Amino acid sequence: MAIQRPKGTQDHLPDGSPKQGLDTRAAAFRFVRETAQRVLERAGAQHIDTPLFEEAEVVQRGVGGSTDIVRKEMFTVYYFGDHGGYVLRPEGTAGIVRAYLQNGLKQLPSPLKLWLHGPMFRAENVQKGRLRQFHQVDYEAIGSADPLVDAEAIALLVEVVRELGLKQVKVKLGSIGDPEDRQRYNDYLRGLFGTHRERLSDDSKDRLERNPMRILDSKSETDQALIAELGVQPMLDFLGNDAREHFEQVQRYLQDWGVPYELDPSIVRGLDYYRRTAWELHHEGVGAKSALCGGGRYDGLAQELGSKTEVPGIGWAFGIERLLLAMEADGVEIPCSEGPLLYLAALDTEYVPAVAKVALDARAVARTEFAYRAMKPGNAFKDAERRGAVWVALVGSDEVANGTLSLKNLVTGEQRRVAHNELMTFLGEQA
Ligand code: AMP
Repeated sequence: MAIQRPKGTQDHLPDGSPKQGLDTRAAAFRFVRETAQRVLERAGAQHIDTPLFEEAEVVQRGVGGSTDIVRKEMFTVYYFGDHGGYVLRPEGTAGIVRAYLQNGLKQLPSPLKLWLHGPMFRAENVQKGRLRQFHQVDYEAIGSADPLVDAEAIALLVEVVRELGLKQVKVKLGSIGDPEDRQRYNDYLRGLFGTHRERLSDDSKDRLERNPMRILDSKSETDQALIAELGVQPMLDFLGNDAREHFEQVQRYLQDWGVPYELDPSIVRGLDYYRRTAWELHHEGVGAKSALCGGGRYDGLAQELGSKTEVPGIGWAFGIERLLLAMEADGVEIPCSEGPLLYLAALDTEYVPAVAKVALDARAVARTEFAYRAMKPGNAFKDAERRGAVWVALVGSDEVANGTLSLKNLVTGEQRRVAHNELMTFLGEQA
């Protein structure tokens, strides 16, 4: 068998490919990207790109040494047999904040709103909607701790998914408070789970020492059963006054703007630099365990990456593949890419170069394709139809002798004779 693509990766294919779902259609990825770009750029977000690989330390500090991503899912980059200390990026935020600090972006108007799209890499157990190379759209607003910025970030996310045509989505909103609030919560969790240590999964025994909040995030069924049995108090009960006021303000904005959300006390982002607002976007068609999008405030991240001063920030990222699965479940249709406005074919080999020349010129005005060799009329029409062409012109001795093209519209059946020197104007009117 010919060489296969690596496990957990997908090819994004042209329309018309056999055996194709929405999540392998290149046109569908483009549709999602362009929709997000439209919504985010009209809110003032600017496009940023960062390298696909970063210093391992950026990711370790940015994503957190206690997370599964850093402990088990990193792709390390080797070159010439050497370990360069680089890893493929598993998410976008750490690289964006690194770029913000390194390039002095603090001098740009604040909050600086940025968006990024591109592939991310995690060596995960592959399942539906869980890949090793997947694609995210990422939005970040850096430089402000105002709850208005949090509410706007959530509202923008909801606007993107609405414009994509998704219906069954839910924003689940929580707050993880300030570091001192989390300290109190972690102490409480240590006490609670400490007496049932032997019933926790091995991963969660480890989390009990390093970061008890992450136990609540565990994918293990026995952990989840224990959590339910113990009736664990939510993080929201541990918020201090400042974090509570911030959280209430975010909610007031969302209510004012009619952005629907539900409170979800189970949302935990156990890393030190996360602060306050955290949320996820869920969809019934993709399953409760798999969020379409995760977002949160990360005011401590810049300092974790070496900044001397605190740089507040907030952002979200959704996986395009998961969004496409949700869109498929919601019956959203993404139109096929359009065919050429003009298709030209020579009826005789000697006219092929002239046809090619007309086609190349016509591209200044409209999408134009041509046959690379002489065709019989029937085959030319069939080929034009397969490509989705609108107008077809067959070029034979008559057309060459009198300097005209006989055009036929495959959609309406209309026929037109157009002089060569009028072709551009004609196509311009049709485009
Ligand atoms: P996270 O950075 O883990 O909060 O992920 C943000 C979003 O990226 C998730 O909600 C998913 O939509 C997507 N995502 C994360 N990991 C994967 C993966 N392995 N395969 C596909 N999508 C993913």
